[in-house]
Amino acid sequence: MTETTFTPRVFSGIQPSGGLTLGNYLGAIKRFVTMQDEVAQSIYCMVDLHAITVWQDPKDLLHNTRELAAGFIASGISPEKSILINQSQVPEHAQLGWIFNCVARMGWMQRMTQFKDKAGKNAQNVSLGLFGYPALMAADILVYHATHVPVGEDQKQHLELTRDIAAKFNHDYGVDFFPMTEPVIEGAATRVMSLRDGSKKMSKSDPSDASRINMTDDVDVISKKIRKAKTDPDGLPSDIDGLEGRPEARNLVNIFAALSERSVEDVLSEVGGQQFGTFKPLLADLAVAKLSPISGEMARLMDDPAEIDRILARGASQAREITAPILKKTYEIVGMVGPAV
Ligand code: ATP
Ligand code: MG
Repeated sequence: MTETTFTPRVFSGIQPSGGLTLGNYLGAIKRFVTMQDEVAQSIYCMVDLHAITVWQDPKDLLHNTRELAAGFIASGISPEKSILINQSQVPEHAQLGWIFNCVARMGWMQRMTQFKDKAGKNAQNVSLGLFGYPALMAADILVYHATHVPVGEDQKQHLELTRDIAAKFNHDYGVDFFPMTEPVIEGAATRVMSLRDGSKKMSKSDPSDASRINMTDDVDVISKKIRKAKTDPDGLPSDIDGLEGRPEARNLVNIFAALSERSVEDVLSEVGGQQFGTFKPLLADLAVAKLSPISGEMARLMDDPAEIDRILARGASQAREITAPILKKTYEIVGMVGPAV
């Protein structure tokens, strides 16, 4: 079979499962912004169907979805250059998700470390959706035939599964229909760690608010959280080797490097030898300087939720021009008539 060449297309999503964090910004959104200028088409999504894999208060979900859209726009994603959508407004995601539930194998899903982390000791009591989540994520991407997916490091395994699902579908039906998507995991902070525990990822759903910096935190809160961030008693090293075995120190240096768009080496050559008492206020000032214009713009956009809803409605209709034909063709390949129009 000849290899199909797929037009470069970017897709990525974030869950409205809380407020945006510095981890989401550095690991994902910053790349979303640059990539919208690098390819002809980019689609960025608020994945509310993923958020409800764990309980969400309905009022919070709606608020968080709009606030996430505001966060995207305030960070520099332009609704003119990119298609901005809310997942549940584009039903083809869930429809292809079902087909992929029938392609993915139990053994593949059982290896997913995110499920193990999130389910913890409670695996019998979490939703079936939490277990099936990566198959829906594969559908989110492949329903656009997306070729590139900017994400944080924690999503690497789900993107490998996406390729496995695409390959199995193509193989089982003897087609070359779904592309092999490339993850784009780049930058100094592809895995921002919790401020309270350097072995845990910073997450918007972490019960401890002190573990993360939220995009909407004000100057005082950001300064306080960084001042209280866990560190060790030593000062900062002047080269990367000196960060070995010091996850909390490494995390703060990575954040500094990513926010200032410098390499870790470059940052250490300047701050090496400093105590955390000196470094932390510098980091707090930098975080405030980068985040406060974005949170200010988010607040302004949130004053007019109807405008956000209009942007998302327009995005959904643009998205469906791509997803409806891909879903229709998928049904045809599988031997189904497909949705009546
Ligand atoms: P939740 O706790 O609900 O899973 P989350 O903070 O992990 O929320 P997601 O919506 O799951 O956020 O992920 C959105 C994007 O942000 C993904 O690309 C993910 O890889 C990236 N991301 C999430 N947390 C981090 C982090 N700590 N460092 C870097 N990237 C991150
Ligand atoms: Mg997550």
